Amino acid sequence: MKAVQSVDSKSIRKMLDQNKNTEFFLSVCVSCGMCADSCFLYVNNNKDPSYMPSYKAVHSLGRLYRKKGKVSLKELEDMKDLIWNKCVLCTRCYCPVGISIPSMIAQARSICRSQGICREYDQVEQPKQL
Ligand code: SF4
Ligand code: SF4
Repeated sequence: MKAVQSVDSKSIRKMLDQNKNTEFFLSVCVSCGMCADSCFLYVNNNKDPSYMPSYKAVHSLGRLYRKKGKVSLKELEDMKDLIWNKCVLCTRCYCPVGISIPSMIAQARSICRSQGICREYDQVEQPKQL
């Protein structure tokens, strides 16, 4: 997929509005850190805080939500590592208040894709027509 030149904040806002759970998720997270120990990526990366499930959600979908979609392409590019390299959507992270971190990260991925931001290996060249 070819990267677009500018961010369509309106369409990001629309995508955010379609999922009413986001506001709830963000408002009930008490930063207890319980989800962290059930994330193998966090545990296997020396408990680097940037691998904590709550950190990944707050700094991806949470950021998009707080900024009401008004983000730059660079901000979306910067989010890539967090939402693709630091989470595999395995759904193992346990949250006692029922927050679904993987669904938040999956939504952040969808929003990035909608703006032409995706993993490098998703950018497959289309075969030329003969
Ligand atoms: S376990 Fe739930 S409430 Fe606690 S930090 Fe993780 S997402 Fe937030
Ligand atoms: S879904 Fe993501 S954050 Fe949750 S345990 Fe799996 S890799 Fe970690």
